Amino acid sequence: MYSLKKSRKLNNVCYDIRGPALDEAKRMEEAGEEILKLNIGNPAPFGFKAPDEIVSEIASNLTKAEGYIDSKGLVEAREAVATYSATRRGIEKVDIENIFIGNGVSELIVMAMQGLLDDGDEVLIPAPDYPLWTAAIVLAGGKPVHYLCDETSGWIPDISDIKKKISRRTKGIVVINPNNPTGSVYPPEVLSAIAALASEHRLIIYSDEIYDRILYDGAGHTSIGSLTSDVPCVTLNGLSKSHLITGYRVGWMTFSGDLSNVKGYLEGVNMLASMRLCSNVPAQYAISVALLRDDLIRSHTANGGRLKKQRDFGYERLNRIPGLSCTKPQGAFYFFPRIDVKKFHIRDDERFVHDMLKKKNVLVVQGTGFDWSRPDHFRIVFLPEMQTLERAFAAIEDFLSDYKQE
Ligand code: PLP
Repeated sequence: MYSLKKSRKLNNVCYDIRGPALDEAKRMEEAGEEILKLNIGNPAPFGFKAPDEIVSEIASNLTKAEGYIDSKGLVEAREAVATYSATRRGIEKVDIENIFIGNGVSELIVMAMQGLLDDGDEVLIPAPDYPLWTAAIVLAGGKPVHYLCDETSGWIPDISDIKKKISRRTKGIVVINPNNPTGSVYPPEVLSAIAALASEHRLIIYSDEIYDRILYDGAGHTSIGSLTSDVPCVTLNGLSKSHLITGYRVGWMTFSGDLSNVKGYLEGVNMLASMRLCSNVPAQYAISVALLRDDLIRSHTANGGRLKKQRDFGYERLNRIPGLSCTKPQGAFYFFPRIDVKKFHIRDDERFVHDMLKKKNVLVVQGTGFDWSRPDHFRIVFLPEMQTLERAFAAIEDFLSDYKQE
């Protein structure tokens, strides 16, 4: 029998956020069951609406957006990104020739890793991580090396662990700040320590800042690119989360710092950008307006705002469930609670997620799906309205009240 297999390049590539549990949830939905899907950071299905000015900006430019454009992106959009980087993120003098606009940060992560890595090259990645980073490194032939973030100190990267894991093959280090899945927002001292290590070991820094404007309790966000000028730094950001337009697919990456030694790499990235001609044009027309109105999300994250209320409610409610404990996220819209594995005899967190889905119709993502090595965490999004969150938490509590893994 002839059968077409997936390429060997994909053998160790994982992206469990849309993995087998989601397939099972779809089967259950097709069979008429209702599923509470708390697995994906997608605001639209939970009733979050994109700001009118963003949608109308895209709509009014649609006829201008019919043709291919420069593969790096619209000049006016890149100028707006350069201004935003300088004035709001403290990353000075980003040349628009070193800005690439893409179909979301996702496409740019894959492109950045394809352009960087030879087989066996290593990249340091946080554990837990947003798993696309690890997947993109593996796909590019590289080796992801995970450094620990410390739950007991608010999931801050453990600098001594990073030091231990730097080798001759290490080419870069990834920082996800604010972090998905933990919601941790990193203090400047920690970022400076990472920048110093990057400088000492000649590493390129990748900083994924897609949640830089989704902050609670007055937390301040520092871009690592603003703390260093002698290290090449790639900062990735976009409008998916801050402007609630995940479906329009628009993001960017900026190269800053000392780029004198990365000219070849930039050429490679440029080649990859050119090979896909250009990214989705209509949404690029929204960038300059969006970056002038980066306060829009604040109505949701400030006191009295929907995201803030849901975060406060969920944090308190989760911590009341026997056997669960959770740090308070300072950014993004996820909880990453710890499960008392001894109490529930949990050895396999994927099984835990499947069991909860089958029994209670609640879909979350297992912690190992975020490259966390132990089966003692899961991620839950707090985008749903309070009543839906309460239904989900009540179902989780009920499920755990008599759960024991064989
Ligand atoms: N980076 C992080 C940390 C994310 O959580 C996500 C999406 O959830 C992305 C990147 C992807 O963003 P985009 O919609 O711009 O592709």
